[in-house]
Amino acid sequence: MAVMERHHFDITIIGAGVVGLAIAEELARHFDSILLLEKNESQGQETSSRNSEVIHAGIYYPEGSLKASLCVEGRKLLYEACEKRGIPYKRTGKLIVATNPDEEESLRGLQAKAHNHGVDDLLFLSGRVVHSLEPEVMATAGLLSPSTGIIDSHSLMRALLAGATDNGVTAVFRSCVTAAHYDGVRHELEINDGESLVASRVVVNCAGLQSDCVAALPGIDVDLEGYRLKLCKGSYFAASPAPRIRHLVYPVPTPKHEGLGVRNTSMPSITASTRVSATPSTRRSLRTCPVSRRSLSTPTCAASGPNSRGRGRRSGISSSPRRAAWGCRAGSTSSGSNRRGLRPACPLRGLSLH
Ligand SMILES: Cc1cc2nc3c(=O)[nH]c(=O)nc-3n(C[C@H](O)[C@H](O)[C@H](O)COP(=O)(O)OP(=O)(O)OC[C@H]3O[C@@H](n4cnc5c(N)ncnc54)[C@H](O)[C@@H]3O)c2cc1C
Repeated sequence: MAVMERHHFDITIIGAGVVGLAIAEELARHFDSILLLEKNESQGQETSSRNSEVIHAGIYYPEGSLKASLCVEGRKLLYEACEKRGIPYKRTGKLIVATNPDEEESLRGLQAKAHNHGVDDLLFLSGRVVHSLEPEVMATAGLLSPSTGIIDSHSLMRALLAGATDNGVTAVFRSCVTAAHYDGVRHELEINDGESLVASRVVVNCAGLQSDCVAALPGIDVDLEGYRLKLCKGSYFAASPAPRIRHLVYPVPTPKHEGLGVRNTSMPSITASTRVSATPSTRRSLRTCPVSRRSLSTPTCAASGPNSRGRGRRSGISSSPRRAAWGCRAGSTSSGSNRRGLRPACPLRGLSLH
């Protein structure tokens, strides 16, 4: 009987989206022996490559929340990083527009609230000034956020991955964590349904839409701990002809957060004009979840869906000197992509926690 090789790391990060990559890069400055595991064939193939690429100013978050303070601080750091590392970005500015007196009142409230948590550059504009800035936008008033911008998220993720691996992080792709055990001292992770094993003192769960499923693997009760995700679906539409707008334009937020943001994307790497709406949805078919060994299919991690523009390193095995000789399978197949083209295949696919 073949004995499965066990690889030892101090820290293992599950997921190479923007969060896992940023954590990997930062931890690499302080620790040795870090492993970054990603089930897809390159970094940022999921939510991190399917978003609006907006650098938010931090206007809407609840006062006193961690999100509010991190967003304000993170925005400044992100602009600095873009400058320093040559990551394409634009300070487009953002306009939140009112179309009646009630909405104007809401804008005033928004401005005061944002000011309290450090967003102190918002300007209240009359309808005339809004019109002079954006002739195609009809509004009675507007709130201008000069520090909102857009970023090329793919360049950002490439820079983060390079920063991590240059500092010794072992990044391995096509490596899906399919089981996990914790004995109170160290974690043991099973990759691709037992293809290999990783022992790690610390595990950082950055699995995005699968993070609650990954948390459940070692037996954490995600409902009890409050980790279960509440999903929303975002929809993008391309407008043709493209709206002639220079800022990001948003309506006044409503209590249910439905709404439409309009942006004109004109960075070289981003060609479409888009609008976004967020609609509450519980359609769990949009994500994959860990499953028991019994129901696993052959682990093939195929290319990403049609929207993805990630161009990271392919297999994590060959290009890093410290890369472990395990974890990836060559031979992505078309059957590896699901029918919607939304989600690459993974041994964890297709089942939900329910
Ligand atoms: C429609 C939409 C628009 C958005 N617009 C913006 C915006 O304009 N600005 C902004 O700041 N934010 C925006 N966001 C939010 C932002 O995109 C996310 O917060 C961010 O991308 C989350 O990154 P992540 O690394 O946590 O997740 P992901 O990018 O999903 O990364 C998780 C990674 O974990 C991997 N993984 C999962 N399970 C496993 C496993 N078992 N084994 C190995 N790997 C695994 C996945 O393959 C994936 O690569 C938007 C989100 C949406 C949905």
